[in-house]
Amino acid sequence: MTKYLITSALPYINGIKHLGNLAGSLLPADVHARFRRQTGAETLFICATDEHGTPAELAAADAAVDVAAYCARQHAVQADIYRRLNLSFDHFGRSSSARNHALTQHFFARLEQHGFIEERTLQQIFSVADNRFLPDRYVVGTCPHCGFERARGDQCEACTRPLDPTDLIAPRSAISGSTELALRPSRHLFLRQSALEGELRDWIASRSGWPPLVTSIAHKWLDEGIRDRCITRDLSWGVPVPKPGFEGKVFYVWFDAPIAYIAATQEWADEDPERRDWQSWWLDASGVRYLQFLGKDNVPFHAVSFPCTLLGSREPWKTVDVIKGVNWLNYEGGKFSTSAGRGVFLDQALALLPADRWRWWLIAHAPEGSDTDFSFARFAADVDHDLADTFGNFVQRVLSFVQSRYDGVVPGGGAFGACELALSAEITRLTGELRGHHEALALRRTADTARATWKAANAYLVARAPWTLIKREPEQAALVIRIAVNLLGICARAAWPIIPEAAETVLGAIGDGGAIPEFPSAGDLGRIPAGRRIAHPGPLFAKLGADWAEAQRLCFAGKEPGPRRSVFPA
Ligand SMILES: [Zn+2]
Repeated sequence: MTKYLITSALPYINGIKHLGNLAGSLLPADVHARFRRQTGAETLFICATDEHGTPAELAAADAAVDVAAYCARQHAVQADIYRRLNLSFDHFGRSSSARNHALTQHFFARLEQHGFIEERTLQQIFSVADNRFLPDRYVVGTCPHCGFERARGDQCEACTRPLDPTDLIAPRSAISGSTELALRPSRHLFLRQSALEGELRDWIASRSGWPPLVTSIAHKWLDEGIRDRCITRDLSWGVPVPKPGFEGKVFYVWFDAPIAYIAATQEWADEDPERRDWQSWWLDASGVRYLQFLGKDNVPFHAVSFPCTLLGSREPWKTVDVIKGVNWLNYEGGKFSTSAGRGVFLDQALALLPADRWRWWLIAHAPEGSDTDFSFARFAADVDHDLADTFGNFVQRVLSFVQSRYDGVVPGGGAFGACELALSAEITRLTGELRGHHEALALRRTADTARATWKAANAYLVARAPWTLIKREPEQAALVIRIAVNLLGICARAAWPIIPEAAETVLGAIGDGGAIPEFPSAGDLGRIPAGRRIAHPGPLFAKLGADWAEAQRLCFAGKEPGPRRSVFPA
C-alpha cells in the first residue's frame, strides 16, 4: 500500500508568520496529511524551521542576542503557534540540528566525489564601513529585473527572482546603510547544476499531477538554462564547509534547508528508533508518494536546486512526486509584509479567534488559480455563512431536537423510503467527489464539497420536516432524526481535515470520537445506532457580523488604539 510523505515549506525562523504563510504551505500540507490519515494510509508529515542565513543573523543582531539563542527561542514560539493552529506535524524539526549539519556535509561530499562541485573565486561585495563581506540580504538595492527599490541580495520580493548581491543596482549595506562598498575576491564553491540539466529535464518530464503554476515556473527555469549555483557564504552561522581552505565559511541556507526535510525525518525516527525507520521514507522508497506544499516563490528551489542535490549524490534518494505550489494571499488590497508588520500575524489571528475559522477561510479561498485578497469583511461574511449558518445551524437544529423531543437519546423506528435512498445516493456522490478533490490537491474544491455536504444534510432535514412529522408520523420522525444524527457524523468527517476542532466536538457529542475520524461514506448513515445517548455541546460558531469585521479592519489599519498591532517577541 502506498505511503504518503508530506512536507510543508520550512517557515523561516525570524518572527511570527502571517496568514499568507499559513495559506501558502503549512495549512494545505496539514489538510492533505489529515485526509491521507483519514483514509487509513500510512502518512508522515514533516516540517521544520529554516534557521540559517542572513535574515536570522540580522534579526538576532537587532534583538541583541546570540543567533543560536535567538533561533531556539523563535522555534519554540513558532512550534506553540502551529500546535494551537492544529497543524498535525509528525515532527517539527530545525534546520540547525546536528542531523542536518551531518547530512548537509554528506551531500556535499557525495556531490564533490562525483564532480558536481567546482571552486571559483568571486568578486564579492565588501563593506568598508562594516569591515566584512555582505552576502545575500546584507545588501539591498534596486532589482535589475523589475526595478523594485528594496530588493534584497538573495531574492527580489516583488518579482520573486533569485538574485546575487552583485546584480543589485545602487547597492547599500543592510547593516549600516553604507554605500561605500567595494568588490573583493573570495573563494566559493558552486554546485554544477548545468552538468545535471539533462537529467533534471528528464526527471521533470517524468513527474505528473503538478499544478500549471508550478510546471510553468519549472519550465521557465529550464528554458532560461540552468545556472550553476554558489552554495557557500562568508558567514559564521550555518553548516560549516568541510573542506580545507574554506574555514570560516558555511553552506548557503538554500543548500541546507531542503535537506532538513530528510534530517527532520531522521530526528523523528531518533525519538523512537525501535518502531520508526527514516530510510524507508527516503532511500529506495518506491512505495512512497512524496508531496511538497509551497508558495510560488519556493518553486525554483524545489523543482531545480534540491533535485540537483539529490540526483547528483548518485544515491537512491526519494525525489518529490508532486509539488503543490500556490499563488499569493494578499491583504486588504496590498501585500502581506513581515518586514513592515502589515497583515494578520498568526499570534494575532489566534488571539482573535480559534483556529477553525482561519483554517476554513484559507482553504475555501486558497490562492490556487490566482492571488486571493483577504479582507476582514469577506472573511467575516464567508465564515458566518459557511460555519455559523450552514454547518453550525444544522448541528444546532439536530442536537436541540434530540434533546428536547427524545431526551438526548437517538430514537429507533421507521424504515428507509425514497427520500433516504436519494439522500444515500447524494452522499455517495459527494464523498466520492470529496475524495477526488483531496487526491487532486484541489484545495478550494475540498471546502466547496464539504459545504455542499452540509447543504445536502440541511436540505434533507428541511424536506422531511421532523418537527411536523412527529405529530402525525412519529416513526417517520424518529427515522429522520436518526438519519440526521448520522449526517452530523458524515458532515463532521467530511470537514475534519479543514476544521478538526469543530468536527471533533460534533463527533464527540454523538459518541463517535477517536483520534482519526474515518473518511465518510453513505454507509455511515446507519453508523450511530438507536438508543445511544448523545450530548449537546452548545453553539459551534457564534456569528462575527459586519461590525466585527469593520472594527478589526480599523484596528489593524492602526486608525484606532488597540492591542492588535504587530509585536514580535524578540
Ligand atoms: Zn524584481
